Amino acid sequence: MPKPLRVLIVEDSENDADLLLRELRRGGYEPTHERVDTAEAMNASLNRQVWDIAFGDYSMPHFNGVAALKLLRGKGFDIPFIFVSGTIGEDTAVEAMRNGANDYIMKGSLKRLLPAIERELREAETRRAHTEAEKMIQHMAYYDTLTGLPNRNMIYDRLLNAIRINVDADKSFALLLMDLDHFKDVNDTLGHHRGDRLLQQVGSRLQTALRPSDLVARLGGDEFAVMLPLSGSGDAELVAQKVMKALEPAFLIEGLPVAVEASIGIAIYPDHGANPDSLMQRADVAMYAAKQSGRGSIIYNAEHDRHSPRRLALMGELRQAIGQNQLLLHYQPKIDLKTRRVIGVEALARWKHPEHGFIPPDEFIPPAEQTGLIKPLTLWIFNKAQRQCLVWRREGKPLTMSVNLSARNLLDPHLPDQLAKLMQTSSGVSEGLELEITESAIMADPARALESITRLRTLGIRFSIDDFGIGYSSLAYLKKLPVDSVKIDKSFVINMAGNQNDSVIVRSTVELAHNMGLKVVAEGVENRDIWDRLSALGCDEAQGYYMARPMPAEDLTRWVGESPWGLH
Ligand code: C2E
Ligand code: CA
Ligand code: CA
Repeated sequence: MPKPLRVLIVEDSENDADLLLRELRRGGYEPTHERVDTAEAMNASLNRQVWDIAFGDYSMPHFNGVAALKLLRGKGFDIPFIFVSGTIGEDTAVEAMRNGANDYIMKGSLKRLLPAIERELREAETRRAHTEAEKMIQHMAYYDTLTGLPNRNMIYDRLLNAIRINVDADKSFALLLMDLDHFKDVNDTLGHHRGDRLLQQVGSRLQTALRPSDLVARLGGDEFAVMLPLSGSGDAELVAQKVMKALEPAFLIEGLPVAVEASIGIAIYPDHGANPDSLMQRADVAMYAAKQSGRGSIIYNAEHDRHSPRRLALMGELRQAIGQNQLLLHYQPKIDLKTRRVIGVEALARWKHPEHGFIPPDEFIPPAEQTGLIKPLTLWIFNKAQRQCLVWRREGKPLTMSVNLSARNLLDPHLPDQLAKLMQTSSGVSEGLELEITESAIMADPARALESITRLRTLGIRFSIDDFGIGYSSLAYLKKLPVDSVKIDKSFVINMAGNQNDSVIVRSTVELAHNMGLKVVAEGVENRDIWDRLSALGCDEAQGYYMARPMPAEDLTRWVGESPWGLH
């Protein structure tokens, strides 16, 4: 079967064009072509139709190949351009390549032509697929699929931008965080499907109620956020009232009227926070205060923060827990998808509280970050983990050890020295240590993060981007960072089988990361089906309940000896 090929030939000689076309047919192509020999004609031709490949003579009476190439690239076409010329000498050829040509062929010897075309078409296709995938990831990374509204990443980005631009402009804005009251009941009684319809309708009412300059986003679940520029101080509350009013008329969900109320927390920049995280957190605190008081909306007030006694008590206890052996580490295996053997573990913190039992890290890590307790905590964890790593290495189990760093750690200028010191005193492990950091930790202060990463890498520590996909930076940005691997967030991996978007994200991430020379780890591998899919996609490592849950060191030692995924 001849392969159709749309060919643009920049050439003054009809005969030479015919020779070229004959060669293409001989190579199994079925070319449709146009021959042009002036800039005007080429321009018109590019506007008129899409071409797969272009050939250019080097010099012509009224035009020349370099100008043709510039015209092509200037119009943003990334199709292969190959010089086919009789007069081209070595120097001109080099010059042509430098100008962005994909190859050059002598008219007298067209032998190289077909292989060159094949190669260039293949590479152009790969480039095109990558650009597509990158675009798709970008879109999915910034929009909520259910409502079509911007998502958390987008609003985070906008907050960050507004703050950056604002450094000397002195403009104020508000962040409203809205949570529907009793949405769970709606979901439970009417079903998820109708719950989803309701969220979509809430989304569109919010958009109609607000101005185009206000950004409405869905953060997830029944949480929405609005970012609005402020001119006067009463603005934010007025807008909150407007939002409430818009939600007042009952929603009609498949014929059923459903009433919805909401609670809104308001945080104002710069009064209540100087970065997106603290604004989010404070709007969240205000929202809970609003929910508790039954008042529709509340502006953040430092008073609200003190109303979290459990959290405060917990932080007081955590300080002691570090010294009292209440903290421990569990280790979860990472398996090589090709060899099906364990190659490393991730250390995960556990707090065995004398009264409350096991407290999950999601409950004590975030407040530890806010109070700064994360610093001693991380040092303790790192030290414990590297010692364990050393123990296993001495037993002949060369497992890599991954430790999680929080944003606050990464921005701590003392961290590299402190870790270096711990590595010295434990006399030995310089191999196999890895730190997992999230995109948001890097983006909080990219310059500082880069400095820490670079310094820590000189100690032989590797880096992995954790929770990849839910952050707000792109792979293109990560390319600039000296990291070794990315870890696709479990939310995408878990849903791979049932959700087309998630599966596309995973596939594109694997492809793009590999393209950048990064290893790809998938977390949240909960069953055989996901394992098989990842394996087919060429993902490198997998971590998840399907293979093993996190477990204490002794259990892991046994597991490594006995499990089919183990080392024996
Ligand atoms: P993470 O770094 O994304 O860790 C992976 C989490 O996914 C762990 O939860 C792990 O138990 C869980 N997981 C593993 N396999 C599966 C699976 O197949 N399905 C599902 N649904 N979940 C799976 P864990 O241990 O509760 O940790 C939660 C988060 O707490 C961690 O998320 C990390 O952000 C933080 N964390 C845990 N330990 C530390 C630590 O030592 N330092 C810091 N800074 N953060 C930590
Ligand atoms: Ca992690
Ligand atoms: Ca993770």
